[in-house]
Amino acid sequence: MKDSERPLILISNDDGIEAAGILSLASALDAVAEVIIVAPLHEMSAVGHAITMRDPVRARPWPFRGPSGQLTAFAVSGTPADCVKLALDKLVPRKPDLVVSGINHGPNTAVNVIYSGTVSAATEASILGIPAVAFSHCRWGGGDFEASGRVARQIVENVLKQAPPPGILLNVNIPDLPIEKIKGCLITRQAQARWEEQFAERLDPFDKPYYWLSGTFVNMDKGENTDLWAVENGWVSITPILHDLTAYRVMDELSLRDWNIDSIN
Ligand code: MN
Repeated sequence: MKDSERPLILISNDDGIEAAGILSLASALDAVAEVIIVAPLHEMSAVGHAITMRDPVRARPWPFRGPSGQLTAFAVSGTPADCVKLALDKLVPRKPDLVVSGINHGPNTAVNVIYSGTVSAATEASILGIPAVAFSHCRWGGGDFEASGRVARQIVENVLKQAPPPGILLNVNIPDLPIEKIKGCLITRQAQARWEEQFAERLDPFDKPYYWLSGTFVNMDKGENTDLWAVENGWVSITPILHDLTAYRVMDELSLRDWNIDSIN
């Protein structure tokens, strides 16, 4: 099949173009589609949906070797959301069939979805009307991406056949297990969990204090249909998410009449 007849997949991440996770993702998807990689030059984890507005953004062609040889790739001086915006406007040869982000080095479950650059790259694609999937490998700092690459390929093959509804992206978290230990996939919701954070306070060489964010992740959720429960119990978690943050179920409860500001003159 010629490249122009194969589906086109745009790949990005937040760990940077040299990360092991994006290499395993590109390698796994190279067999099912034409892939183009547009990823940050440097690690951009936890930048959320930040975009660059006060500086120029540069894209440099990057020597990226997949199993079949050289892949088209660009390293970008911006954030994950910048990468997807710039790629779709200027760098891709045609509209991609799918945008895939990851494979992130660490989980993006529960509230971490908000902070995640990995998820934001996929979110940007869904805002721009392209189906998108974010993949995360549930081990901080790396691990063996063999299994997560294979899982990603299976999910992508299905999404190419049947995309989620417009505006919905899939946030996939893969447990850090060999492939034979992974039980399968579950559709999940974000767990109610958060960071209990503390800033460590230290002194710099000039005796001025500085602060460094650290903390522990606390799961308050007893549900067995959550992203955290799934990955802790050997399942691949697939959470459908959307960027519309409106709390629709509360709209009727918020009574402006009670606030006495229903008419402002
Ligand atoms: Mn990351």
